[in-house]
Amino acid sequence: RQSLKIGLIPADGIGKEVIPAARRVLEAIGSDIPKPEFVPLLAGWEVFVRDGTALPEETVEALRECDGALFGAVSSPSRRVTGYSSPIVALRKELDLYANVRPVISVSANPDDKPAVDLVVVRENTECLYVKQEQLVHSENGREARAIRLITERASRRIGKMAFEIALSRPRKQVTIVHKSNVLTITDGLFRETIRQIPSESNGRYDSVKLEEQIVDSAVYRLFREPQIYDVMVAPNLYGDILSDAAAALVGSLGLVPSVNAGDKFVMGEPVHGSAPDIEGKGIANPIAAIRSAALMLRHLGYAAPAHRIDRAVDQVIREGQVLTPDLGGKSSTDDVLNAVLKKL
Ligand code: NAD
Ligand code: MN
Repeated sequence: RQSLKIGLIPADGIGKEVIPAARRVLEAIGSDIPKPEFVPLLAGWEVFVRDGTALPEETVEALRECDGALFGAVSSPSRRVTGYSSPIVALRKELDLYANVRPVISVSANPDDKPAVDLVVVRENTECLYVKQEQLVHSENGREARAIRLITERASRRIGKMAFEIALSRPRKQVTIVHKSNVLTITDGLFRETIRQIPSESNGRYDSVKLEEQIVDSAVYRLFREPQIYDVMVAPNLYGDILSDAAAALVGSLGLVPSVNAGDKFVMGEPVHGSAPDIEGKGIANPIAAIRSAALMLRHLGYAAPAHRIDRAVDQVIREGQVLTPDLGGKSSTDDVLNAVLKKL
């Protein structure tokens, strides 16, 4: 690549405070990556209120020309609003971002110690109950709500492969399939069986990966009791959604946890937190989740070394504990934290 074209979609609330910080970090990386070229784009609730669409067509078209993107956060209305639908969900579909990848890592007090939590949740992003085929029928028992839960072999295989690939890049190289196939024998059974097949179809590529599996409820229990047993967890959409938020709770603030939405051709970094209306405009949003999301985006684009540099710089700032935003018990601003990270870089 001559340059790295990156779409920037701050969207709503503190998205507009943390995405510019992530941009500054990418600009500071220097020659480890092709010169980044940023494309500012619109999406979210505010643009919906103004223009009647939460995801303008121009945004989608522009993203198709980009190598990757960073998304801030959207403020979704809690009531149903005619014409509004989540731009994130639509983008995942439009760009075929079939995986949501969420590393959850605690920062150890001593840089030589292993972190207590160091795992990645790989969530299938396109199907399961989120196909949103819901139906309300009237039966003799009154109203009855039904939903379709879709699991396909194709989607299970590609998410499984993504999990194996991520495991290959990690020291422990372990994948845990999370499922409930003791009850949902057909749907979760297909998910589990398909992923179990992957190593034997890989010409030895995944021979070094250890494959485990766990029923979802006990997986959550063990995640809280002994998070260190997990490395890469792969799950269908709904379990993955819950698991990834639960795992994020293990490391303290939402302001720390990054994610990417990834497909085979595109990757979009996105901090896990929302638009945080309670602190919007105060300049105290923690930019670390967004900065780590930028690092994760680089990693998925094949730039592991600069991604690692960013993560180490962030770790140092957290470890020293001198410059922290209020969510971590500090008194510093978004800009203070950004500048501390830039200095470590
Ligand atoms: P939230 O993540 O916005 O905030 C939860 C709490 O965490 C708040 O107290 C907030 O101040 C704090 N927080 C979050 N990020 C922080 C950061 N970077 N630094 C410091 N503190 C931070 O969740 P919410 O309050 O439930 O939702 C607010 C809005 O965001 C809603 O409209 C919701 O729909 C939306 N939301 C969007 C996303 C997304 O875009 N992916 C995710 C969750 C919620
Ligand atoms: Mn969620």
